[in-house]
Amino acid sequence: LVPRMRSFGTTIFASMSALAAERGAINLGQGFPDTDGPPEVLEAAVRAIRSGHNQYPPGRGIAPLRQAIATHQQHHYGLAYDPDTQVLVTAGATEALTAAILALCDLGDEVVVLEPTYDSYTAAIVMARAVPRPVRLRHPSDTESAYRLDEDDLRAVLTERTRLVVVNTPHNPTGHVLTDAELDIVARVAVEHDLLVLTDEVYEHLLFDGRTHRPLATWPGMFERTVQVSSAGKTFSTTGWKIGWVCSTPELVTAVTTTKQFLTYVSGGPFQWAVAEGLALPDERFAQLGARMQAQRDLLVPGLVSAGMAVHPSEGTYFVTADIAPLGYHDAVDFCWRLPDLCGVVAVPSSVFYADPAGVGSLVRFAFCKRPEVLTEAAERLAGLS
Ligand code: PMP
Ligand code: GLN
Repeated sequence: LVPRMRSFGTTIFASMSALAAERGAINLGQGFPDTDGPPEVLEAAVRAIRSGHNQYPPGRGIAPLRQAIATHQQHHYGLAYDPDTQVLVTAGATEALTAAILALCDLGDEVVVLEPTYDSYTAAIVMARAVPRPVRLRHPSDTESAYRLDEDDLRAVLTERTRLVVVNTPHNPTGHVLTDAELDIVARVAVEHDLLVLTDEVYEHLLFDGRTHRPLATWPGMFERTVQVSSAGKTFSTTGWKIGWVCSTPELVTAVTTTKQFLTYVSGGPFQWAVAEGLALPDERFAQLGARMQAQRDLLVPGLVSAGMAVHPSEGTYFVTADIAPLGYHDAVDFCWRLPDLCGVVAVPSSVFYADPAGVGSLVRFAFCKRPEVLTEAAERLAGLS
C-alpha cells in the first residue's frame, strides 16, 4: 500500500459491524437500517429485473432517473437542473464524492472539511494528492446548545491553495443540521474566495422537529460553484443499492463524469429504475420517512440519558452523539470495544471522525436507524450501564 494510504486501515464501520456480529450484540455502530424501504420502491426494482433492465445503463444514468432527480430538485427546492447535462448518476454518494474530488482537486490543493468528518472525504482527498484542512464545529457546551460552524474558524484554515469546501448537512456523525446562518457563512466565504463547494446531502429527507433542508446551491452566488451530491440509500433505507447522484453546472458535471467513468463506469442498472419511481413519491411519503426516524431517535435517547450520558441534540440523520464522561469513562475507543460485554450493544467512538481527537475522546456515536423493538431493547440495556 502506498505510504499516503497507510493510515486508513479498515473503516471503523466494518470493524464495528464485525464486532456486533461476533458478539451477537445490537449494532448501533454502522449506519444501515434493519428494515427495507417503501414497498413500492422495492417492487419497482423486482419489476425492473424481470423486465430485462440488466445490462449496462448509459454512462450518465438512465434517462428516467436523471429526469426524476431533476424533477425532485425542482419540486423540493426550486432548483432547475437540465437532466441531460446537469445530472450524473453514480455508485452511491461515495463514488460521487470521490469522483468530484478527483476531478476538481490537483496535487497540493487544499480542501476544507467540517470536523468531525465523514471518513470517505479524507481518503478521497488523499487519493487525489490534495490536502485536507479540517475546521472543527464548535461543540455543544454550557453556552451553546448545538454544534456550530464559526466564521473565524473557517477563515482561519483558508490559504491561497484552498480549492474546495466539503459541506455535509444534515451532518454525520453529529446529527447537526446547519442553520441558515451557518450556510450564509459558507456562501459568503466561498464567493469572496472564489471556492468550489461540494455538498453531501444524503440525509436531505431525514430532518427532525420541523426542520427543513435548504441546499446551499439555492444561496445567491452558489449555484454555479456548488456540486450537489445525494443518494437513495438513506432516504429509502436501501443502502445496499448504492444509487447516488451529482447535480451541478454542465461544466462541473462533465468534469465529474470524466473521473467517474473510470471508477465504476456505471452501476445498479435495475435499481436506477426503482429509485426513479421512489423520487416521485408524494410529499407525505417523504415526510413519513423523516417522522419515523425522529420517533426512532426518541426511543433511543432516553436510554442514553438514563445511563447518565450527556446527549448532544440530534436534529437529523441516523445518528446521535453522547458524552460518556459523566459515567466515569474517558476513552470512547476502549469503551466501544467493551460495550458488547458491558451491555450487548455496539457503537462508534467519535474520535475516528477527527484528524486530531484532542478533547473529544469521550464522545460516542449511536445509530438509531433500527426497528422500534430493537431500539427499546438497546435503550434498556444502555440504561443499565448507570
Ligand atoms: N455521506 C455520508 C455523510 C454518509 O453518511 C454516507 C453513508 N454512510 C455516505 C456519504 C455514503 O453514501 P452511499 O452509501 O450512497 O455511498
Ligand atoms: N455511512 C455509514 C455510517 O456512517 C457507513 C457507510 C460505510 O460503512 N462506509 O455509518
